[in-house]
Amino acid sequence: MLTTPHLLVGAAIGSQVGNPILVATTAAASHFVLDSLPHLGFIVGERRLGAQWDFEDLDRRDLTIVAADVLIGLGLVTLITAGNPRAELIWLGAFCAFLPDFHHTFQILFGPQKLKKYTKLHLKFHYKKPMRVLPGLATQVTAAIAAVLVVLR
Ligand SMILES: [Zn+2]
Repeated sequence: MLTTPHLLVGAAIGSQVGNPILVATTAAASHFVLDSLPHLGFIVGERRLGAQWDFEDLDRRDLTIVAADVLIGLGLVTLITAGNPRAELIWLGAFCAFLPDFHHTFQILFGPQKLKKYTKLHLKFHYKKPMRVLPGLATQVTAAIAAVLVVLR
């Protein structure tokens, strides 16, 4: 799943739960719940599920989508936390909801053979069927909008 819905659902959890440990654990768990929902995978690790890939497989399209996704997600979390007294918990939730995808960055930096066991475990939670673009995006956009509404209510 894209980073933006992960960040925003984590932010929503941070906006509603007062205990930082509960925020961190619930937000991290939300990552796997979101990954299990039907969605269209964009980045290399999702698009080529289970397949071997190398750094060279990351094309300009992959990097542009990942960079735009991360920037949009961080920008939205910045916007919804502006003036919010729970900003620290919201950022904690956003960070912890994103954290289970850290292996993508780690593998880009240190090679796809790193963290193989974690990657395999992470993929067990993933929705794996191919999807059309619109329905594949709809679940992610819906999760993101619902999360923003929870934070802003
Ligand atoms: Zn994930």
